[in-house]
Amino acid sequence: MDKHAKIFVAGHRGMVGSALVRKLQAEGYDNLILRTHSELDLRCQSSVEAFFQAEQPEYVFLSAAKVGGIMANSTYPAEFIYDNLQIQTNVIHQAWKNGVKRLLFLGSTCIYPKFAPQPIREEHLLTSPLEESNDAYAIAKIAGIYQCRSYNKQYGTKFLAAMPNNLYGPNDNFDLEKSHVLPALIRKFHEAKLAGSPSVTVWGTGSPLREFLHVDDLAEACLFLMNLPNELFDDLISPSPRSLVPGPPALINVGSGQEVSIGDLALLVKKATGFKGEMIFDTSKPDGTPRKLADSSRLHALGWMHKTSLQDGIVATYRWFTEGE
Ligand code: GDP
Repeated sequence: MDKHAKIFVAGHRGMVGSALVRKLQAEGYDNLILRTHSELDLRCQSSVEAFFQAEQPEYVFLSAAKVGGIMANSTYPAEFIYDNLQIQTNVIHQAWKNGVKRLLFLGSTCIYPKFAPQPIREEHLLTSPLEESNDAYAIAKIAGIYQCRSYNKQYGTKFLAAMPNNLYGPNDNFDLEKSHVLPALIRKFHEAKLAGSPSVTVWGTGSPLREFLHVDDLAEACLFLMNLPNELFDDLISPSPRSLVPGPPALINVGSGQEVSIGDLALLVKKATGFKGEMIFDTSKPDGTPRKLADSSRLHALGWMHKTSLQDGIVATYRWFTEGE
């Protein structure tokens, strides 16, 4: 991407979009197009059509989505499927109609089957049933991947879907009912410390395994992918048998490869916050998928690696959280 290229970051106020904007600005990209939710409702077909016609972006980072943790996904499945399908259908279609050069569609590794072999490779998509707690979100995102693939195939577009594992960092959602585990734990331990509570409740058994990636590392990976030389980018969109990174078309995992149990994660957060009490596991709450480790070897083979260790990332996110209070 040229430093003056017109780049639309959809969802720039979210955790991923805001990290993308920070990274793009730090790298000297000076022609970003940003719209808040109230300025542009991406679920509205005519608004998205008018926006693309007027602005003609050259590159699109599609990081606008309805996202949430295990509880939000099972409480609001209708919103998860409707909002995500609408947003991505409108943006991907208009990106094609208006000649966008490259588009990066962001999802998450929740799209993979509940009992996918671990670590999960891109080709495990749709090989067995999904985890029920977030199937509405997953189905929407899978539709988005197939939309990218179909447009690439029929119209020759350059649309790629990137699936990061559990993300965390600044601008995450720290609402206890809606958030993912890491921000929830940061908030719970912090508030328990302030209140002098004897214990913190961690949902589930503590045994599920998760992989975490700091959102600044994801933003860097996204720029890396958008800036790949043509032959490598094309190879990701329609891999040949002689590909450097063989795999299914237009889909790539983005992970750290570092796996931790929820129990150990809670210990890391406990340490970062300085909470001295007990941890209680509430097994009446769902565990979700037992293990979710992405195989990011294709991205690694292209030359990208994450930089932030989980421990450093938790400390930095805790600092961000307490400074914003
Ligand atoms: P998932 O990765 O899609 O399953 O979503 P989450 O990040 O919401 O949950 C990951 C795991 O952390 C699950 O096993 C949860 O039960 C567990 N967990 C433990 N405490 C919490 C908490 O306070 N909030 C959330 N969201 N999950 C928690």
